[in-house]
Amino acid sequence: MLQNELFTKTKREAPKDEEAINAQLLIRAGYVDKLMAGVYTFLPLGLRVFKKIENIIRKEMENLGGQEILMPSLHQKSNWETTGRWETYDSLFRFTSHYSKIDYALGPTHEEVVSPLLGKFVLSYKDLPKYVFQIQNKFRDEKRAKSGLLRGREFFMKDLYSFHKDEADLDNYYEKVKKAYEKIFKAVGLGKLTYLTFASGGTFSKYSHEFQTLTQAGEDIIYICDKCHIAVNKEIIEEQSACPYCGNKNLRQDKAVEVGNIFKLKTKYSEPFNLRYKDEKGDLRDVIMGCYGIGLNRLMGTIVEIYNDKNGIIWPESVTPFKAHLLLLGQEKIKTQANKFYNNLQKSGVEILYDDRKDASPGEKFKDADLIGIPYRLVISEKNKGKIEIKKRNFNKVKLLSEKEAIKCLTIS
Ligand code: ATP
Ligand code: MG
Repeated sequence: MLQNELFTKTKREAPKDEEAINAQLLIRAGYVDKLMAGVYTFLPLGLRVFKKIENIIRKEMENLGGQEILMPSLHQKSNWETTGRWETYDSLFRFTSHYSKIDYALGPTHEEVVSPLLGKFVLSYKDLPKYVFQIQNKFRDEKRAKSGLLRGREFFMKDLYSFHKDEADLDNYYEKVKKAYEKIFKAVGLGKLTYLTFASGGTFSKYSHEFQTLTQAGEDIIYICDKCHIAVNKEIIEEQSACPYCGNKNLRQDKAVEVGNIFKLKTKYSEPFNLRYKDEKGDLRDVIMGCYGIGLNRLMGTIVEIYNDKNGIIWPESVTPFKAHLLLLGQEKIKTQANKFYNNLQKSGVEILYDDRKDASPGEKFKDADLIGIPYRLVISEKNKGKIEIKKRNFNKVKLLSEKEAIKCLTIS
């Protein structure tokens, strides 16, 4: 992509009302734009990161047998009355049609849609188990939206729902999802900092599990067992002050953000929606459900909170918008060389952002490259006499390579 043609530009400063580091950096570097508190547009660079994250998640959902669907955001009130959540779900956006005076909600989660949906297709034990997921925008009337992408009023979530004959089958699948979640957080660079965290299971289960990533930007406090590399959340610590695995009472307290959540719903939603199946004997039984969420905006914001320095973002390679950032310093004489090199890189399959701007000084280009945070910086300038200067974003060391060597370096790593 040619940087000169990008309609967005980097900014010296983030909006004054933006307190969160993740949003400040993402706005300044041109990844997102803030429409209002808790609502962001993904700009071309940001959408590329979003799609990388989305595809990492999608792949794992497909490995779990998940079938992708896309449910509506606009929900009728009656479904939310069926579960009682029209009254009790605090952050539900509710509104009335100007014409019909009918009430609607904007979906903050989709149990109220997916349960009756499956009811139209699941009739007998032969139809189970089934797993469906979507990657879709959610709306929540959050009281405070000051954490940038970590807490939006509109945000994207991957929500997976599983439907089983019995609890044993749910338990088995739940463990598989746990492993898939661990893979996802590892793949986006958050593996070491993300703790499987025991949380309340509500009235239907003893525990649910959150995936909590350590960051000072997080709004949650977790209590870590360093022996087991797991944590418990605030609700759990109030009931029992020990590790549920080893009984260790020496738990370490730290700040974290919940990047994912898995929950055994059991019959919580199948009962009110009459989601039942005929078993082998012809008896009607409630379908057993599980639900599993990951916030995509939140994940992107968390990655930025963790991977940055005073100059900008430092993207992990798995989610970077481009693998390399090519800076052309100086003009006409070397422009032909740079253009050719850009084409060769693209032919070799290297995703590349090419800073071909005429009106930016070398200093500005270096500054922007650090802010944007692409893992490899390539410089073509007259003083390098045909060689390419290559530098990793998180290292100071610079190497001079031939074009061939540079392409090799970018295609093998
Ligand atoms: P929190 O306690 O942080 O408000 P939650 O427990 O209400 O989150 P869930 O209903 O479990 O969230 O939603 C599933 C996932 O969606 C969360 O694990 C999180 O990654 C993401 N998520 C929830 N609320 C938001 C939000 N306001 N903005 C961005 N992502 C969110
Ligand atoms: Mg949660």
